[in-house]
Amino acid sequence: MNRAHKFDVIVVGAGGAGLMAARYAAQHPGVSVAVISKLYPTRSHTGAAQGGVGAALGNVSEDHPEWHAFDTIKGGDYLTDQDVAERFAVEVIEAVYELEHMGLPFNRTPEGKIAQRKFGGHTREFGKSAVERACYAADRTGHMILQTLYQQSIKDRVNFFNEFHVLDMIMEGGACHGVVAYELATGDIHTFHAKATIIATGGNGRMFRVTSNAHALTGDLMSIAYRRGLPIEDPEFYQFHPTGLYKLGVLLTEGARGEGAILRNGDGERFMERYAPTIKDLAPRDMVSRAMYLEIREGRGAGPDKDYIHLDLTHIDAHVIETRLPDITEFSRIYLGVDPIKELVPIQPTAHYAMGGIPTTIDTQVISDGQNTIVPGLYAAGEVACASIHGANRLGTNSLGDLIVFGRRAGIEAAKFAASEGFTELPAGVQDRTRELIDGVRKGKRKERVSHLRRELQDTMQDYASVFRTEEFLSQQVEILRDLQERYECVGVEDEGHKFNTELLEAIELGFLLDNAEQLVHAALNRQESRGAHSREDFKERDDATWLKHTLVYKDGDGVRIDYKPVTLGKYEPKPRTY
Ligand SMILES: Cc1cc2nc3c(=O)[nH]c(=O)nc-3n(C[C@H](O)[C@H](O)[C@H](O)COP(=O)(O)OP(=O)(O)OC[C@H]3O[C@@H](n4cnc5c(N)ncnc54)[C@H](O)[C@@H]3O)c2cc1C
Repeated sequence: MNRAHKFDVIVVGAGGAGLMAARYAAQHPGVSVAVISKLYPTRSHTGAAQGGVGAALGNVSEDHPEWHAFDTIKGGDYLTDQDVAERFAVEVIEAVYELEHMGLPFNRTPEGKIAQRKFGGHTREFGKSAVERACYAADRTGHMILQTLYQQSIKDRVNFFNEFHVLDMIMEGGACHGVVAYELATGDIHTFHAKATIIATGGNGRMFRVTSNAHALTGDLMSIAYRRGLPIEDPEFYQFHPTGLYKLGVLLTEGARGEGAILRNGDGERFMERYAPTIKDLAPRDMVSRAMYLEIREGRGAGPDKDYIHLDLTHIDAHVIETRLPDITEFSRIYLGVDPIKELVPIQPTAHYAMGGIPTTIDTQVISDGQNTIVPGLYAAGEVACASIHGANRLGTNSLGDLIVFGRRAGIEAAKFAASEGFTELPAGVQDRTRELIDGVRKGKRKERVSHLRRELQDTMQDYASVFRTEEFLSQQVEILRDLQERYECVGVEDEGHKFNTELLEAIELGFLLDNAEQLVHAALNRQESRGAHSREDFKERDDATWLKHTLVYKDGDGVRIDYKPVTLGKYEPKPRTY
């Protein structure tokens, strides 16, 4: 059965960014709002965020938004658009207080203010020493944000379509008029006609073998937008978080180091003292992950194969560990059988966060080129988007901040746009592409197995396109991806049913992941410098003369086309990055 729906604003995604956007859009008088989500809202990955949300409240020690903006720009290795970082650092303060007023149970200082702790790359007085900027609710900050926002969205009468999987955007005349989605429970295809569409579908970490990301993070809309001719900005900048559980990738928050934990190599040495003498273990993630790889490569790893690093919390008061880091303590006990209170925890870098994404203006309007041409009716916020606040490397706690600041902005802007526009006619055959996509997989040759191709994709991305990169390995990965794309044409599914056909959706998600990998690898091969999370062993230096610009990757037939967009500079001149 086909279904057609009409709303002024639709939001795709029910994580922190989507829910914040939906709430704000719903508060605009007379504007109808629906959220479409492939997961039940409270299962979104925002709920897994642990350590905190950064805002210069100054509750524990002196702090200012200027310091936060500077840290964000320097942390982003100067690829951050400075106007975006400056606005962000101011607005996130208000947004955190707003969460508090919605009832979010933050930890408290003895005087009853929101408690704050240290986090990587956040400093006082432009890099002098680490500062307490992360507002937290134990190590369950994202869980609290998601629950709070979901409750508020229900109160605001937002309509929810849960377990609806968006498979296409309705694009006509360079503008967006809604989306087409597949209903998991029934197999029905639904058309969502909208005046304004907000994309808030999160990340794509599932293209790597070792990742902190949940299974659903398959970059669906980064692929759909790309197939629809829109560019993806800066996909080569993919963050590896230093402290994933060894072999599993399950995250141990940077908040652990914020509370005093230390990284040690196989000789027991606190090696970060050599790489970042001022802030040591609290250096930005790109630097710490690289340092860990180098220690291992030079034979100073821990364990029988010398292939991991230790996180040491044993000197921290057991009460602090149990009360401020309860979840990660449980994770290491359950998954590795290691008690962080008494033992060193084996860790390795884990694929964590996409700095790039669907390009937007500072006001979250999606743009289609380097001249900032706006796509009418289309907005993006959260991890899927690139405003660009995180530049070449995101600082810890700045994603949750991004969700609430730019999610809110997207909701306000989309509602304003919708209130001033009428509905347009939908193009004929609006569901055709979605049907073709589903039929292609449903009636596929079944010569290849989805699980095998996905494993090959994840293994090769991890080995050839992760923390360190070279032309040789990236070129090899281009060929591997071409082969995987060809073999993907021969996948199929055994489940021919229409109800809860998760096998079908997994196959489609693999197609999305392959596109995401293609964007990343081509952009990484193209960028002949090292900056932030993109580290080329054959081009070790940052090259501002040639490469102080954003990448835009477009789909071009079976290949890609690359273009550029200038970085918005401001008062901070790009300088060598030392900590
Ligand atoms: C383990 C972990 C810990 C983290 N800790 C922190 C932290 O302490 N501080 C911090 O700042 N950041 C942290 N991050 C990063 C941060 O949590 C994420 O970047 C952020 O939550 C992403 O939010 P989002 O709203 O963009 O997307 P998500 O919360 O990932 O939500 C995506 C939504 O999109 C929907 N969706 C996706 N595809 C489709 C589709 N095709 N159709 C319909 N719906 C779709 C999903 O159902 C979901 O509702 C952490 C990340 C991880 C993985």
